[in-house]
Amino acid sequence: MQLESAEILIVGAGPAGSVAAALLRKQGRQVLVIEREAFPRFSIGESLLPQSMQYLEEAGMLRAVVEAGFQYKNGAAFMKNGVYTDFDFRDKHSEGWGTTYQVQRADFDHLLAKEAEKQGAEIRFRHEVLDIALGQPGGRSLVTVKRPDGEQYQVDAGFILDASGFGRILPRLLKLETPSNFPVRGAIFTHVADGIGPRAGFDRNKIRVTVHPKHCNVWFWTIPFAGGRCSLGVVAETAFLEQYKGSPTERLQMIVAEEPSLAELLKDATWDTPARQIVGYSANVDKLWGEGYALLGNAGEFLDPVFSSGVTIAVRSASLAAAALKRQFAGEAVDWQADYGTPLRRGVDTFRAFVESWYRGGFQTIIFHDRQQPEIRRMISAILAGYAWDLTNPYVKETARRLAALEATCELT
Ligand SMILES: Cc1cc2nc3c(=O)[nH]c(=O)nc-3n(C[C@H](O)[C@H](O)[C@H](O)COP(=O)(O)OP(=O)(O)OC[C@H]3O[C@@H](n4cnc5c(N)ncnc54)[C@H](O)[C@@H]3O)c2cc1C
Repeated sequence: MQLESAEILIVGAGPAGSVAAALLRKQGRQVLVIEREAFPRFSIGESLLPQSMQYLEEAGMLRAVVEAGFQYKNGAAFMKNGVYTDFDFRDKHSEGWGTTYQVQRADFDHLLAKEAEKQGAEIRFRHEVLDIALGQPGGRSLVTVKRPDGEQYQVDAGFILDASGFGRILPRLLKLETPSNFPVRGAIFTHVADGIGPRAGFDRNKIRVTVHPKHCNVWFWTIPFAGGRCSLGVVAETAFLEQYKGSPTERLQMIVAEEPSLAELLKDATWDTPARQIVGYSANVDKLWGEGYALLGNAGEFLDPVFSSGVTIAVRSASLAAAALKRQFAGEAVDWQADYGTPLRRGVDTFRAFVESWYRGGFQTIIFHDRQQPEIRRMISAILAGYAWDLTNPYVKETARRLAALEATCELT
């Protein structure tokens, strides 16, 4: 079998893989990215958080993203039984970007991959990683790849960044996966020509999360795009979704019809794209790194879509891993747990506590409460904007305890 070598091999050219590739190219490293699909390809995860802009900027991709004409985003709106509340991400506790974009991921991911290529990364589309044998002499790995014509070859790689998303190649090969502590949930989603006129009072600069009128653990997203289109989806436990029969589009339409404000908002929508369903996406792993490899983005942990944290975590992981590799290549001893695993998990755990509180209903009690202290709202706004690693924010430092205390206060007043 043909054998090549690479300094760093990245599996997957999603946001985690492309940003990591660009950051490593900036350090002068030789980077080979193996991507199973041809781009542009569909992907879910369309509402970005402002914190992600910092990493796109670091990777030298910001200008291309800004110039691409994606829908501007400045916050998140929530709706429950006719009550509306929203957060403006420019009004937040943490320093940093307060705005971002809502993106069709086919275009966004393609753009990031092209930017990584411009910076000298080699991306092989329609090549699939089949196997990774870690622990070769010198801490190297032997990666088996299938070409589009079915032929296989091997790459002798100095370091592996697994950015394979839900492909989760190394967690599966190394049996690192641990069951998620969330119930099994799924999503049914589509894109529509939304037909939402200006009089609907709909803020296209914000994602809207609408809670089902009868079930606080069932919610819908509407993510406006530029050009009068919207991403629309529902998230619920699989047992709930299974009650609805028919095609994914029919099932989504039936569930949307149960929420009066959403049904009204979308009354003129053209459902021109068949809906899709994805289930059981939440995943945990024992560890986010090991000898000769690190797990980036969804290849590591994936929580839940409710706070749109996935791409931000993916690009943050790319930035942390690239920084650790810079030191490693400079000959420094890198403690991957202290420099990568622990700092990455800190933000993931902040979001995890928010997600748990959301599904228990506590976070909904907090945000829909009619008397809210502006300073506390600014702290919550910062986390919703993705600043889940900012330890000056008490809701990052002690997330679960603070949320529980705030919920209790809201219930008393
Ligand atoms: C229902 C739902 C809604 C979501 N909404 C949001 C949202 O609004 N905002 C947000 O930020 N996040 C959202 N997310 C999360 C978001 O989709 C992910 O967190 C994000 O795409 C992770 O990026 P990544 O680069 O880690 O992986 P991906 O974007 O999944 O990229 C992985 C790449 O690896 C490739 N690959 C896989 N296996 C192999 C292999 N063996 N060989 C070669 N290549 C391979 C794949 O083809 C893919 O291109 C949502 C997730 C779900 C399930």
